[in-house]
Amino acid sequence: MAKYLFITGGVVSSLGKGITAASIGSLLTSRGLRIRIMKLDPYLNVDPGTMSPYQHGEVYVTDDGAEADLDLGHYERFTGAPTSKLSNITAGSIYWDVLNKERKGDYLGATVQMIPHISNEIKDRIRALESDDVDIILCEIGGTVGDIEGSIFLEAIREIGLEEGRDNVMYIHLTYVPYIAAAGEVKTKPSQQSVAKLREIGIMPDILICRAEVPLTLDVRKKLSMFCNVPLGSVIEECDVKHSIYEVPLVLSDQGIDELLLVHYRIARPPADLSPWRRVINAIRNPEGEVTIGVVGKYQELQDAYKSIFEALDHGCIAHKMKLNLIKIASEEIENNKTELLDQVDGILIPGAFGNRGIEGKVAAIRYARENDIPFFGICMGLQCAVVEFARNVCGLEGANSTEIEAKTPHPVVCLMKEQKEVVDMGATMRLGAWDCKLTAGTKVRELYGEEIISERHRHRFEFNNTYRDSVQENGMTIAGTTPGGELVEIVEVENHPWFVAVQFHPEFKSQPFNPHPLFAGFVEAAKKRNQLKSGA
Ligand code: GLN
Repeated sequence: MAKYLFITGGVVSSLGKGITAASIGSLLTSRGLRIRIMKLDPYLNVDPGTMSPYQHGEVYVTDDGAEADLDLGHYERFTGAPTSKLSNITAGSIYWDVLNKERKGDYLGATVQMIPHISNEIKDRIRALESDDVDIILCEIGGTVGDIEGSIFLEAIREIGLEEGRDNVMYIHLTYVPYIAAAGEVKTKPSQQSVAKLREIGIMPDILICRAEVPLTLDVRKKLSMFCNVPLGSVIEECDVKHSIYEVPLVLSDQGIDELLLVHYRIARPPADLSPWRRVINAIRNPEGEVTIGVVGKYQELQDAYKSIFEALDHGCIAHKMKLNLIKIASEEIENNKTELLDQVDGILIPGAFGNRGIEGKVAAIRYARENDIPFFGICMGLQCAVVEFARNVCGLEGANSTEIEAKTPHPVVCLMKEQKEVVDMGATMRLGAWDCKLTAGTKVRELYGEEIISERHRHRFEFNNTYRDSVQENGMTIAGTTPGGELVEIVEVENHPWFVAVQFHPEFKSQPFNPHPLFAGFVEAAKKRNQLKSGA
């Protein structure tokens, strides 16, 4: 039977609850425990798939095609434990299922209520992660204690504590201990009130993790311990980290949090081997050089919109001991060929996107990369724009475009599957989740992956139009990867260029700090070479 660990948050949002949960997960994994992590999101959308990146940051995609909260990305990156459709539950999906059951008559005429019907549905979904190969289920509750939407989730996790037995269940509360500069002191009152709110519901936190700007003195810890009713040794401090979020597992492990958990669950395991984390931190703290990467996209103001891309670039840099100098460029800024913005970069990356805003800027950036031998990495929409650029400027197909951008283009080099000459019916409108891809011998990607068949995650509707395969190939673009039967183009490369790779899938979702994705590592290596060439090294 699996044990449960619930992680709630208090006082304010944006404390990094997902990273804290992922870090705890990584420590448990390092102690040889098999874990699963999930996120409960109290908002009413059925999934974040239709939410704007401005609202919700990146949409993370799992192997089984769930469009999920970006915290699942942290979970997979930190722990390696797979996530799936079962790992992200929204209030909307819970209500949806309960109401459907009600319509089908599944409740046999009973009055359908928040407790027990909604709370039972939540508990069932949490328990759905139970399996013989899982020791601990970590469950992060989105939002902040006190939110109206979140209260039924807290009720459900309280009930799990009662039903599974307190020895098998732990509650961690992540709180904020602000430093008030004018008074020159840190304040514990918000934490006290947040824990009081939890206790009102019937949840007694076992561990308090305190996000803080300044280290907590013993007096402050004692105060938190007494007023929040948590043993002194279970008051853990999590100050802002200096270099990287990947320091958090080490910060928490130094305070013995994994031991607290194992003691509570009465599980004995050898100490954690944290050497992979130490190697990662060492590479981040002691870089041997620097690469400047320009990411040309449309949601640049928002740090979270390209979360996995930025993380994967970091991983590529960790692999080559490079410091990442990231320049975020709004694609609209380079429209009308204002490519000066790209002069300083060692590599250009174009991430995924939907809709036509900023497209011409991306096409201009790609042309600049292709013509000036700047390493280029196109992802999803980045591939589609690379094909458009190549068709227009190399193959001479004037006005070539994607039908997503211009429905009546004379050369629909990217289009919906059903618009293709030989219709390939792949079912649902969106190609989502893991698909196998066969790599072409002799290509850069074949060398980087080191194997012929790979699997990567997708989230798109439009595809390279097969009608144009011959035309681009005759002009120096290689089809470097396709679906195993050859039906759909997955990767293109441009010949006679130091590093020009564009992929229809999202490799960023599968990169980890100690296991960097080969394409990101390859891209950073190419950028490093260009940087060295520039500086005459
Ligand atoms: N909008 C494009 C499509 O639907 C690309 C999507 C993406 O970049 N994720 O195919």
